[in-house]
Amino acid sequence: MKKYKFYFLIGSQHLYGDDTLKEVDAHAKIMADGFNSDPVIPCTVEVLPCVTTSKAIENAVIAANNDPMCAGIITWMHTFSPSKMWISGISKMMKPYLHLNTQFNRDIPWDTIDMDFMNLNQSAHGDREHGYIGTRMGARRKVIAGHWEDSQFRLEIASWMRAAVGVFESRRTRVLRISDNMRSVAVTDGDKVEAQMKLGWEIEHYGVGDIISELGKVTDEEIDALMKEYEEKYVIATDNTGAVRYQAKEEIAIKKFMDERGFTAFHTNFEDLQGLRQLPGLAAQDLMAKGYGFGAEGDWKVAAMTRILKAMTADMTGGTAFMEDYTYHFEPGNEMIMGAHMLEVCPTIAATKPEIKVFPLGIGDREDPARLVFRSKPGSAIVVSLVDMGDGLRMIVNDVECVEQVNDTPNLPVSAVLWKPLPCLKTSAEAWIYAGAAHHSVLSYDVTAEMMRDFANILGIEFVYINKDTEISSFVKELQLNDIIRKLK
Ligand code: MN
Repeated sequence: MKKYKFYFLIGSQHLYGDDTLKEVDAHAKIMADGFNSDPVIPCTVEVLPCVTTSKAIENAVIAANNDPMCAGIITWMHTFSPSKMWISGISKMMKPYLHLNTQFNRDIPWDTIDMDFMNLNQSAHGDREHGYIGTRMGARRKVIAGHWEDSQFRLEIASWMRAAVGVFESRRTRVLRISDNMRSVAVTDGDKVEAQMKLGWEIEHYGVGDIISELGKVTDEEIDALMKEYEEKYVIATDNTGAVRYQAKEEIAIKKFMDERGFTAFHTNFEDLQGLRQLPGLAAQDLMAKGYGFGAEGDWKVAAMTRILKAMTADMTGGTAFMEDYTYHFEPGNEMIMGAHMLEVCPTIAATKPEIKVFPLGIGDREDPARLVFRSKPGSAIVVSLVDMGDGLRMIVNDVECVEQVNDTPNLPVSAVLWKPLPCLKTSAEAWIYAGAAHHSVLSYDVTAEMMRDFANILGIEFVYINKDTEISSFVKELQLNDIIRKLK
């Protein structure tokens, strides 16, 4: 995560003399060093010399725009910095924008405070002047207030940085579509031009035949090497080695095909397998564990979102997976959802060491595929869905509490995760359905709703949040207002 840089722009003006500006720079360096040495802050903060003219601000913004590893701009006004000089720079900002309202000293130095001190430390009013111009210009940004050494303040910066990294990776996402959407499913489809304009995704179609010809180039040595990797990471709990080797072959072919063309996510289509002998199961699962995005049944949106959420939390170990609302448990007082998919559940969410097994698959009409089977972790998580409303994209996030799976499902050999959605199954499901959210989603133990809210805000897409406080009538009213806002845009 440290490869992502954030430019730290400190605002001031010339009124106070060179000595004051030197102190401003010294303070900014201490603060940036503090952020960079804190393990909570995932990315690198690069402090620039303080800016005091319109030209300097514009140049700093252009440098941030042009730096391929710059994921965002953080501003803070150490002294008053008249905001007319920020107009040109803010109008050119192409990177995510965070405004920190902080100050170098934590406490008022009661006994020593004087006018010299006040000429240097002015963020209480300087940051309000800066806020005005951001709001007046309609700049999409995050505002975080607090002392820079406070742990909650830093957690909020860290959270926003992950959202900005999500935007950074979103704009580099290339989705490999192996075949098209399945049949007449509506929610998994959408406007790929809109997705590219808003989210930066390049979504490209290839025929299954392109993957099959890549399979033809895979060598036995390559399969042996991947089998060794499987043996180290997983328990091989089948005698059907041939089926496992075939999945390894598929994984190698799909990975090579993606890497050579810069794809970071892919989807399959179980109705269009042509000469593929197995639907990719273990292959898709292991590729997800390696950080690639995946969606089943032609779902290119969930494939890209899985990739992006994984990239936002690449240094974390909670797990992020392509998911589907599979079936309900309506036991009074213990209502929950079983999330799963017929094969393709990512092993990063496993609580037990995943086992490679081979079972028949009722659909797809091919050989029995090898798959990873495991139980998932308990813990707090979110589920995220992105849908195309026709006049814009809507992101829906629900807080969920994953619970331990105590029962076996001897006749359903899928990896599953059980969760209790907030505020309760009834309200969550009703809200999710009123919002038009999909049956496919991304489940993450690492990403938070706040990160996804910031991600959506930076990209200018609608965000709705189902949580412990959600109540249906006001939620539906919010959806109606959002429909109007989307149409006005
Ligand atoms: Mn599905």
